[in-house]
Amino acid sequence: MSKMLSLIVPVYNEEEVLPESFRQMDAQMKKIGYPYEIIYVNDGSRDSSMKILRGIAKDNPQVKVRSFSRNFGHQTAVTCGMDAAKGDALIIIDVDLQDPPEVIADMVKAWENGADIAYGKRLKRKGETIFKKVTAFMYYRVLRAMSATAIPLDTGDFRLIDRKVADVFLKMREHNRFLRGMSGWMGFEAVPVEYVRNERFAGKTKYTLKKMLRLASDGIIGFSDRPLDRKSVV
Ligand code: UDP
Ligand code: MG
Repeated sequence: MSKMLSLIVPVYNEEEVLPESFRQMDAQMKKIGYPYEIIYVNDGSRDSSMKILRGIAKDNPQVKVRSFSRNFGHQTAVTCGMDAAKGDALIIIDVDLQDPPEVIADMVKAWENGADIAYGKRLKRKGETIFKKVTAFMYYRVLRAMSATAIPLDTGDFRLIDRKVADVFLKMREHNRFLRGMSGWMGFEAVPVEYVRNERFAGKTKYTLKKMLRLASDGIIGFSDRPLDRKSVV
């Protein structure tokens, strides 16, 4: 039987991007040629995202929707999508088209060639503030210096993971999740797929500074024992 792909898409207040995002992602998935499902996880949106998602799901049997009672955050939404996915490979992608859907085909090729994880590596970020670019650049390098786990530089959650990697994620039930760190910690055959990160198709970032700092501290606290080691604290 042919293998199947699961595309996991977290959604928080994304009414401006959803219709176009579905159109582009669905077209790419069709082109790749495997049977597929698209799993949207509505992370407690307060705009019309859920209504749009219901409409898309009604007309497209390959689309599944999960919905949270409130906003739990991006990492939890992606985890819910992983729990629901039935595919032989799972692809995690942002809904706002910053992760170009064409890159999915390159990730699938890497998987066909034996990769267990094909992670998107950002060569360039378009349309993001200098503040975001500088802090992200520094953060990944500080994390690398502090952590014993190899976490690839300039890499987010845009990636393909094989079913066997997904099954390990299913067993790790920690609450403060830093998925890209967990992925590095597990090992497996991971290959980079380089891409240029687009501007957001529409709307504004849903990652507030508070959410960003939370994610950054979850990364450091989860993947380094330096904060506990008094000798190394200056
Ligand atoms: N997102 C989410 N819950 C949140 C914040 C964001 O599910 O609390 C989703 C969002 O809809 C998008 C992805 O996570 O699909 C990344 O968010 P965003 O593009 O706003 O972050 P940025 O690219 O600016 O870091
Ligand atoms: Mg974005």
